[in-house]
Amino acid sequence: MPSDSSFSTHHSPLPTTQKPIIIVGGGITGLSAAWELQGQGVPYVLLEASDYLGGKVETTLTEDGFLIEKAADAFILGKPYAAQLAREVGLEAEVSHPRQDTKKLYFLRGGKLLDFPENLKMFVPLDDESFRASGVLSPEGTERFLDEVNVPPKPPTDEDESLASFVIRRFGEEALNFIVPMAAGIYVANPYELSMKAAFPQFLKMEQDYGSLIRGSRATPKASGHIFMSFRGGMGAFAQAIASKLTGDVRLNTPVLRVHSGSVTLAGGEELAASGVIVAVPAWYAAPMLGDFAEASSLIGALKVNSSVAVTLSYRAADIPFDMNMHGLLVDASEGVALKAMTVHSAKLHGRAPEDHVLVRCFFVGLEPSVARRQAMAEVERLLGATGEPLNHWYGDWRGKNPAYQVGHLEQVAQIFAALPPNVRVAGASYTGVGIPDCVNAGRTAARALAEQIKAAQALA
Ligand SMILES: Cc1cc2nc3c(=O)[nH]c(=O)nc-3n(C[C@H](O)[C@H](O)[C@H](O)COP(=O)(O)OP(=O)(O)OC[C@H]3O[C@@H](n4cnc5c(N)ncnc54)[C@H](O)[C@@H]3O)c2cc1C
Repeated sequence: MPSDSSFSTHHSPLPTTQKPIIIVGGGITGLSAAWELQGQGVPYVLLEASDYLGGKVETTLTEDGFLIEKAADAFILGKPYAAQLAREVGLEAEVSHPRQDTKKLYFLRGGKLLDFPENLKMFVPLDDESFRASGVLSPEGTERFLDEVNVPPKPPTDEDESLASFVIRRFGEEALNFIVPMAAGIYVANPYELSMKAAFPQFLKMEQDYGSLIRGSRATPKASGHIFMSFRGGMGAFAQAIASKLTGDVRLNTPVLRVHSGSVTLAGGEELAASGVIVAVPAWYAAPMLGDFAEASSLIGALKVNSSVAVTLSYRAADIPFDMNMHGLLVDASEGVALKAMTVHSAKLHGRAPEDHVLVRCFFVGLEPSVARRQAMAEVERLLGATGEPLNHWYGDWRGKNPAYQVGHLEQVAQIFAALPPNVRVAGASYTGVGIPDCVNAGRTAARALAEQIKAAQALA
């Protein structure tokens, strides 16, 4: 990654007859906003505090041939925005999908690795028998789960509900232990706090449309083809591909201190004029930056965050007797261990580790990174029989950096949007979805809205 303060571009700059739109933050949200503005012919300046573009989307190729993902390792195709952007920046030839031949998953329950039930749509069984056979719940818990078809839908309401309340209401108390590791994983959330309306609106809709998630899931066709997408060079290749197509003013090592309605102040004191500003940094950075807008700043500062730590370990394949041709394992929420999930990157996607080596990433909540590393090693030994020490380890320290999306989140976000002037937008994972497709959509939507405003103002002038 380049580390000089101005990022060189490949094409001639756009004409700058007007003040640019300033984008604060060069993560996937900010990059998507810049790409959209460029497509609309609107001048922009992208200001990134660090010495690289991509933010949480960053891939490192180690000297010994391991491909380490800092955060996302793939994104869902059900929302088309990220795949569409990948096409627009010419990445088709680099696309890679999670391997079908290694898609085995396990579920850790009662100290045993059980085969994950087959024929699920997300967490909903498409047939009763394979769910019964899996043993992921007790016999009583299983029957209560399958009895969801007979649970009447909640009367239509605009009120939000927590994931735990929804799951217990529809599938029974024990179902939480099975559903939470899958459903709450991406949000690293407390299920009693996680907003259904913000995180899983499709299930609320299905309850209303079909009266039952089991009935609704069985009545609608399962997506055919690939569900997730990544790239040969890892997710970092996506950020790099967008960055390499940007022809506007992109500045690295340029932290923004303060945002005003017609300018931003840089950490060095310089003030840059702007026709509009897109603040594409997480809420915990955005709140102090937006101090000029007291109400919005305090609402943004009130958005809760959760903590997690990811530890990636590399091994010689010969040191792990377990068959590592699997995507990984999920842990029953009542298991009483710190480990929440494990992904076997070396088997999930091609090209993540050299031949005869294994690369696993373990997720923890509420641990110090060094403690998490020891726990990760101990779990790989206990569950998979590792005999030797790992060759290397890498941390993803996400303490205080996971947007929590608490019950009422959408209403809070609507208030934040309304409290900002029309030419100052916030966008990204803290507000309208943490997944890469949501971030792409958020960046482009904010850019489109500002571009329209500018064009409308120009038409009037
Ligand atoms: C462990 C983990 C695993 C994940 N796995 C997946 C997955 O598999 N699939 C998926 O779809 N999503 C996944 N996600 C979520 C996804 O990676 C993030 O939500 C997304 O990358 C956030 O992008 P962003 O641009 O909104 O924010 P960020 O990536 O945080 O970018 C914000 C940028 O702003 C910059 N910045 C901060 N302060 C300033 C300032 N003052 N001035 C200028 N710049 C500033 C930062 O340096 C950064 O570059 C995962 C997240 C984590 C943590």
